[in-house]
Amino acid sequence: MQLNIAMLGPPGAGKGTQASQLGEVRNVPRISTGDILREAAQLETEFGRAVQATMDAGGLVSDEVMIGIVRERLVREDALEGFVLDGFPRTVAQAEALDAILVDRDPLIVLDISVPSDELVRRLAARRVCGECGEIFGDKLGTECGKCGGALVQRSDDRESIVHERLKVYARDSEPLTSYYRGRRTFAEIDGSRTPDVVERLVQETIDRFQGSVERDRL
Ligand code: AMP
Repeated sequence: MQLNIAMLGPPGAGKGTQASQLGEVRNVPRISTGDILREAAQLETEFGRAVQATMDAGGLVSDEVMIGIVRERLVREDALEGFVLDGFPRTVAQAEALDAILVDRDPLIVLDISVPSDELVRRLAARRVCGECGEIFGDKLGTECGKCGGALVQRSDDRESIVHERLKVYARDSEPLTSYYRGRRTFAEIDGSRTPDVVERLVQETIDRFQGSVERDRL
């Protein structure tokens, strides 16, 4: 069975951390739409500047643009046997488009990581990322990346003034995804308030369970 996974959850829920782990352990690419956009934003193009402005305002890039990016990414060779989507879909329109893109593939496993909002605000304030390799660090300890030695920085949209807008946008545009997917057999909510190791175990167990049930159905 292909491992087609989408991680849902608010900013700060640990999607990126879990998606990276999962990608490594299960040998499938992590596709982070936030990373793709941050790369685009570094280019001095009109598109790059527009993306940066949207991210800095805590808003969402248009469904049309996002669906185009993901459609192209998912047909690349390395994603044909599976992928972990991190940050997509973020709207019901994106979820509908994703269903259409994946129509001939194995069922999408959707993991919805939930964390209380006061904990999200705390985590986002403390989060640092490596400016070189993008590794995510959950606390302010140290200034150097433990992986590559690069300098740790705060994401510009993790500033407190923007975080509240991002959480508002999440509640309005992304929370409806839970009802969109809830009735599916390969949907699960994961308690993201636990430590990263515990969440990782819950994620792995859930995926094993879904893989088992999809494969049993085929016999
Ligand atoms: P993330 O790294 O997933 O927190 O994404 C950072 C920012 O990129 C978001 O706050 C949005 O502005 C934008 N973004 C990422 N993914 C999407 C998406 N699927 N749809 C719209 N905007 C997105």
